[in-house]
Formats: sequence, C-alpha cells, structure tokens
Amino acid sequence: MNKEKIREAVTQLLDGIGHPKDDPNITETPDRVAKMFIDIMNGYNEDPSKHLKLFPSDNKEMVIVRNVPFYSYCAHHLQPFYGKLTIGYIPDGKVLGLSKLVRISRVFAKRLQLQEDLTKQIAEFIFKNLNCRGAAVNIKSQHMCMVVRGVRSYGAETVTTKFMGIFEGDQGRELRDQFLSNTSDKEGY
Ligand code: ZN
Repeated sequence: MNKEKIREAVTQLLDGIGHPKDDPNITETPDRVAKMFIDIMNGYNEDPSKHLKLFPSDNKEMVIVRNVPFYSYCAHHLQPFYGKLTIGYIPDGKVLGLSKLVRISRVFAKRLQLQEDLTKQIAEFIFKNLNCRGAAVNIKSQHMCMVVRGVRSYGAETVTTKFMGIFEGDQGRELRDQFLSNTSDKEGY
C-alpha cells in the first residue's frame, strides 16, 4: 500500500469539499486517515491461506461459527458496512481451528467489497481449501452508504447467503434449513 498516495488523496479531498485549510483540526488528518486505511484495508496484504490450520477429524456433522462481528468497506462508496456473519461447513476428514474461520473471513472483509462478493469469497475459500463436503456463509449487515445518503434507510439490513457443495440443490434443502436456523439474529446489532 502506498501511504503517500493516500495522504495526498485525503489532502485533495479536504480541499475539494472546501473545508477551511487553516483549521488546526485537519493538520494531521491526511496522515491519520492514511494510517487508518493501511489498517482497515490490510486484507490486500494478507493471504488467507496462512490461517489454514487443519486437524484430522472423523466428525461429519455441520460445524457452525455464528454471529461473528465484522466490518468491511463498500467498494461503491468507500463507506463501512458491518454486522454479523455466520460460517458453516461439513467436514470430510479435516476440521479447521474455529478461530481460523473468523481470521479467514477478516482477510476478505479488510478489502473494498460488495457484500455479495464477500459472502461468496469466504464460502469458496473454505470449500476449496478444506476439501469439505459443503460450505455455507450468511452475512447480515447495515450499509452506511444506505444510511447517510441515497435512501437513508437506518436499520435496513442486507442479507446475503452462499451455499456450496452438498448444501446446494434439492438434496441440500435440509442442510440449508439447518444452517439458516442458526442465522436468525433477533437482538439486532
Ligand atoms: Zn455502498
């Protein structure tokens, strides 16, 4: 990542929106925002494969880690979207350390994303790299680009789901229901 370029862009942005140049509050803003972007977009520098800590297991039942808080940034507006994600998979000889599911999802979340793509990328990565029988991801989130602008819909949730392997098709209906019954979040955020 190029910190200098980000810093310059923020200076231009402040100039573009017409904020008074002599405001002492913005003296360090370009530097501060550049540092922030390097942190929140760190997923570009990370290979999710480094979190593939697999253990042998004869468990063939669905494993679910649910209601994992996440933060990501919308590729259309550079605004945050955030909420909860639930990841499930059906192992086939190997299981992944549970915290690694969270870490893998964070690598993808710390990039500019569309929620639909984020959902798909996590599911595909798990399905391919665990050689499991099926993978499922559900994301429920609030998009700040829908709150502060446009339709200004505070509280509107966007829900996306991706199913792979034996979760798919007619024979996967029961598994999908089992997974989705773990994703209802009545407490909100
Ligand atoms: Zn957006």
